[in-house]
Amino acid sequence: MASASQALNESQKASERTHFVLIPLMAQGHTIPMIDMAHLLAEHGAQVSFITTPVNATRMAGFINHALATGLTIQFVKLNFPAVEFGLPNGCENADMIQSRDLFKNFMEACAALREPLTAYLRQQHPSPSCIISDMSHWWAADIAREFGIPRLTFNGFCTFASLVRYIIVRDNLLEHVEDENELINFPRFPTPLQLTKEKCPGSLSVYGLEQIRKNIYEEEIRSSGVVMNSFQELEALYIESFEQITAKKVWTLGPMCLCNQDINAMAARGNKASTDEAQCLRWLDLMKPGSVTFVSFGSLACTAPRQLVELGLGLEASKKPFVWVIKAGDKFPQVEEWLAEGFEERVKDRGLIIRGWAPQVLILWHKAIGGFMTHCGWNSTIEGICAGIPMITWPHFAEQFVNERLVVDVLKTGVEVGVKAVTQWGQEQTEVTVTRDAVEKAVSKLMDDGEAAEEMRMKAKEFGVKARKALEEGGSSYNNINLLIQEMGNQANASG
Ligand code: UDP
Repeated sequence: MASASQALNESQKASERTHFVLIPLMAQGHTIPMIDMAHLLAEHGAQVSFITTPVNATRMAGFINHALATGLTIQFVKLNFPAVEFGLPNGCENADMIQSRDLFKNFMEACAALREPLTAYLRQQHPSPSCIISDMSHWWAADIAREFGIPRLTFNGFCTFASLVRYIIVRDNLLEHVEDENELINFPRFPTPLQLTKEKCPGSLSVYGLEQIRKNIYEEEIRSSGVVMNSFQELEALYIESFEQITAKKVWTLGPMCLCNQDINAMAARGNKASTDEAQCLRWLDLMKPGSVTFVSFGSLACTAPRQLVELGLGLEASKKPFVWVIKAGDKFPQVEEWLAEGFEERVKDRGLIIRGWAPQVLILWHKAIGGFMTHCGWNSTIEGICAGIPMITWPHFAEQFVNERLVVDVLKTGVEVGVKAVTQWGQEQTEVTVTRDAVEKAVSKLMDDGEAAEEMRMKAKEFGVKARKALEEGGSSYNNINLLIQEMGNQANASG
């Protein structure tokens, strides 16, 4: 009979042979959690091939260096991206570099052209791949998985709550016959009451020529062997159970993936290089009272109109509370820079820090001075806020962000809405002011004041923060799922090979 240590050795050997191929969508909101996923899988003993392109590899150089320095078993595979061949400017290798949304189709087709070179690369690898985890939008990765006779799991960067909403919409074609933009759509078989207008539903963005790609994505999603979620059991158990029932697919919750590394500097290195001096930013926060600062940031893709930014700034000023505000208007809207220089920055200089460009978001969120997060509700930002244990002000722009808002406000009860009525679609510039300075001021007060309701939200947020950390600690739900996933994929590979 094998001893316990022999059994452990066997299982360690099996996991070392388990080789995951991770193929992210090249958009920061999808790539960053996959970098974290690579980290988690490697740390639990698996081999990982992380597929990227030269421009994207440069962006994540900080993380690549960290992985090399710490001996993580991650191979970064740089494939040439055929941008020019598909009508994109040379070097346009990330969704945030696409100038017009009509070019998104070209971008997706260029991604699909990675299939051949990737297959050729993988044919030469030892151990050969055991499992592909690809972004849901890379439907063509399923062909590679079939060629190797291995499972393909999908990842879409959403939480399970939003994934379920999206799945029901696509399966039941819920949006097709909805003409009235104010009509409230119901979601049959959704575990809790939910109503959304068409515009606020994920998948409502119509991009020219994307219909066939959407069809391929859905068909391959149905055929996939399961779904990986950047979430954890204790956050949305009801929706995970429901998703598994409705789709008949296993949900692997492996998150919150942003907690993969306790080394906060390594965490900061996994996205773009910060455009601000991180140490200076932390020194500024050190001067503020614990829990007193609102962090305002709308992710990597949202495009807020200059007039709306001014209105937001005036609301922050009127709140008389400290804030860190990330502005990405940059070169695109020089009028914002002019307005900041005309007096705003001077007026708020004692309690407002403005970051232009890419902020070290996780570093900031986890600083003790931060007491609230005004977010566009991208899922990564949302779960980073959850991990930080802080309540949120929700300001969704597009995609599944309006659904995430419902999760935060109605289900978790850890946030307040700023009150966004209209969608600002990706790649479409908003022109109107839809959120007034009064609404901003009110939301900040509601969240940051001492009242009972705010206190309750803070307590709930803290509790979720604790649960999030536990999920990835030894014996926690996501920790166990990572081990199980590695074991299961390793066993399947051994059985077939
Ligand atoms: N992010 C960051 N600094 C920024 C903007 C974004 O570090 O200035 C990170 C953020 O922490 C998150 C990701 O980029 O991990 C954005 O993903 P999310 O899903 O929140 O939004 P998206 O950008 O996809 O809309």
